[in-house]
Amino acid sequence: MSSNGSKYIQGSTGPWEIVIGLEVHAQILSNAKLFSGAATEFGAEPNSQVSFVDAAMPGMLPVINKKCVEQAVRTGLGLKAKINLFSVFDRKNYFYPDLPQGYQISQYKSPVVGEGEVLIDLPNGETARVGIERLHMEQDAGKSLHDQHPDHSYVDLNRSGVALMEIVSRPDMRSSEEAAAFLKKLRAIVRYLGTCDGNMDEGSMRADVNVSVRKPGAPLGTRCEIKNVNSVRFVGQAIEYEARRQVDILESGGTITQETRLFDSRAGETRSMRSKEEAHDYRYFPDPDLLPLVLEQAWVDNIAASLPELPDEKRARFIAMGLSAYDATVLVAEKESADYFEAMLAAGADAKASANWLNNEYFGRLNKAGLAISDGPVAAAANSAIVQMVSGGVISGKIAKDVLDIVWAEGSDPRTIVESRGLKQVTDTDAIETAVDAVIAANPDKVAAAQAKPQMVGWFVGQVMKSTGGKANPASVNAILKKRLGLPEEG
Ligand code: ADP
Ligand code: MG
Repeated sequence: MSSNGSKYIQGSTGPWEIVIGLEVHAQILSNAKLFSGAATEFGAEPNSQVSFVDAAMPGMLPVINKKCVEQAVRTGLGLKAKINLFSVFDRKNYFYPDLPQGYQISQYKSPVVGEGEVLIDLPNGETARVGIERLHMEQDAGKSLHDQHPDHSYVDLNRSGVALMEIVSRPDMRSSEEAAAFLKKLRAIVRYLGTCDGNMDEGSMRADVNVSVRKPGAPLGTRCEIKNVNSVRFVGQAIEYEARRQVDILESGGTITQETRLFDSRAGETRSMRSKEEAHDYRYFPDPDLLPLVLEQAWVDNIAASLPELPDEKRARFIAMGLSAYDATVLVAEKESADYFEAMLAAGADAKASANWLNNEYFGRLNKAGLAISDGPVAAAANSAIVQMVSGGVISGKIAKDVLDIVWAEGSDPRTIVESRGLKQVTDTDAIETAVDAVIAANPDKVAAAQAKPQMVGWFVGQVMKSTGGKANPASVNAILKKRLGLPEEG
């Protein structure tokens, strides 16, 4: 983005606004394909999950998979969208070696899900709304393999017929950060719902990125569509590159031609694939092998009643418990983090203290070790016990970090560690007084300095904490020091 923090690009003729709309393909979580019973597992032997329907053998008929429809409806409800009780499957006709039918079954004029919305959480703490235009179901194509043989290409039809949801946003995003936030939020929502695993590196989620630029307040500019971008980071890079490219063309007197482009992640640039003139005419028509899809409102209502708590609602509930908006946003971003946090509360820890502890200590250690929360070595109950020992004055905040390190490395129970290694906080006034007196006696020069400059007391606190192995209660140390040095109690 521009260095002044605004979301405009600075060109030689002044600021330009970026306009972005995304078309996200999300693979439906289902054991079988959209119109066949073949399996959908990732990473299987090529062509081991292909039914006669997926291979488009003559005379085969598609049969709709109810589970896939349920997943699409569930996703629509999660996007607060209108569910269309009547929708139609169309044939989208084109030739491609990995598309044996010669057409893709998709939904065109009558999609199963209509308008909805996604609220996105921006890095500056603000929330923005991105409109959803529609969600429709369609088949995925197979995959051509060009790297298996020097002279031949092979085709793997395992993905052929796999159910996808295409989720189309309104052109409501204005920066690469907003587009990244949208993708992350959408991914979180489908993961909470269990309708897509959201694994972009396995191709379960990929985005077509539409980008245009305009002078602030001007009508929408001509867009280019960057196909099949497969990571959040690449989406950001593709937008930055593409917007700059368009601004440069417009400022040197050129015009943007609507076209399809691809993102070369190695070069970090977008390149033309085909112009609008070369665009396919897909000759959409309703698939004669399939009846219109008619849903019953009661069936939709049942799905609605079974929806889990979604990130926005969870975030609101966490804020009501006293968490900051920032902490709540971080915790709900991944369902596993939110569940972990709630497990800490269920084990007895305070909400705010637990959120602080996770965001300041535990998540940092997980990041550093490159571990997902589900692979972390410390159980929620153990972190809960550490937080409770701090709140209860059993250990100091400093010792708590050491205890976490020990539990991390050794996997033992934090209360046992504190007990057996004598890490309990010293609140016994006699013991602290003894330690304070020893430090004062050893540093007569510093005593005079502290009496002249009361901020010096911090140095004494540090010495006493050191001599007690970090176990003295810092508030007691402070109070006793001030009394012994003859300093005022407050300030
Ligand atoms: P088409 O039917 O040609 O695919 P759509 O109107 O469905 O076009 O839009 C496809 C995507 O492009 C949507 O995500 C939409 O938000 C986005 N889009 C439309 N117009 C613009 C524009 N001027 N700039 C950026 N994105 C746009
Ligand atoms: Mg479209």
